[in-house]
Amino acid sequence: MIQITTPLNFLGSVYRNIRQGLTDMGEMHDLLEQRPEVQDKPDATPLQVTGGHVTFRDVRFHYMPERPILKGISLDVAPGQTVALVGPSGSGKSTIGRLMFRFYDVTGGGVEIDGQDLRDVTQSSLHAAIGVVPQDTVLFNDSVGYNIAYARPQATRDEVIAAAKAARIHDFIESLPEGYDTQVGERGLKLSGGEKQRVGIARTILKNPPILLLDEATSALDTQTERDIQASLAEAGQGRTVITIAHRLSTIVDADQIVVMEAGEIVERGRHEALLAKGGRYARMWARQSAEIEREDGAQS
Ligand code: ATP
Repeated sequence: MIQITTPLNFLGSVYRNIRQGLTDMGEMHDLLEQRPEVQDKPDATPLQVTGGHVTFRDVRFHYMPERPILKGISLDVAPGQTVALVGPSGSGKSTIGRLMFRFYDVTGGGVEIDGQDLRDVTQSSLHAAIGVVPQDTVLFNDSVGYNIAYARPQATRDEVIAAAKAARIHDFIESLPEGYDTQVGERGLKLSGGEKQRVGIARTILKNPPILLLDEATSALDTQTERDIQASLAEAGQGRTVITIAHRLSTIVDADQIVVMEAGEIVERGRHEALLAKGGRYARMWARQSAEIEREDGAQS
């Protein structure tokens, strides 16, 4: 028996250690898709976050040399500001997020957080400073409480509950048969996309990073789910620098800065009202999405 269970126990504990060590999707990327070309410098120092000022200086980037993707992106996101990246599919929005996380190195220019070039800091400190809310939150086969606390395993139950309340998912969890101890994931209770995302947001709130990177879901959500998620994200963004990769313009009208991308370049930037008044690309995108929403509403009623 011992011969059989020992290796199994050992594997179980390795698995658990790996799982415990993954504090968010970003670190999961880190582990599962570690890219040998991105390495800490021998003299890399931990990132010192003083306010969460994110700067892209004339950033150029390609995945393959023959195909430039970002063609000189300059962005300045002041501490506590919210910036929304919008633009057609393939324009480079997610690539900007990946570079901020240093999933790849820029091929020209530089990315800085509070004046420190990302290539000079340790990746672990960078990843600890950025909370990623991905389009699809991965849930583990464990309790919903564990799934939230996973961002900070030493968190108390009260802290987990406070994060769930802020993410507008507490009442839902309380309504489950075993509350926070209810098993979720593939082998447990299946949560809807919106519920899963709010668990992910609670996880990020508990991690309490100074910078948030939000990758908004592309899939259509019903109005109530969308409202719940927006409230949850607004709460998560309080007092943090937020970079949102936005797909639905209705969610970003309050952003401090809207950046409109097209084919790897910034073609417009400003606040919602100013961009509407300008009557350019953003105004046309807005008119198109508003017409689509009206058509959908008409079709539903
Ligand atoms: P979407 O709104 O569809 O998510 P996006 O604006 O976020 O699009 P990116 O994902 O940044 O666009 O992609 C920009 C371009 O880079 C696209 O043409 C895409 O095909 C290309 N690209 C993205 N990832 C890779 C990769 N790993 N290798 C090669 N090309 C890539």
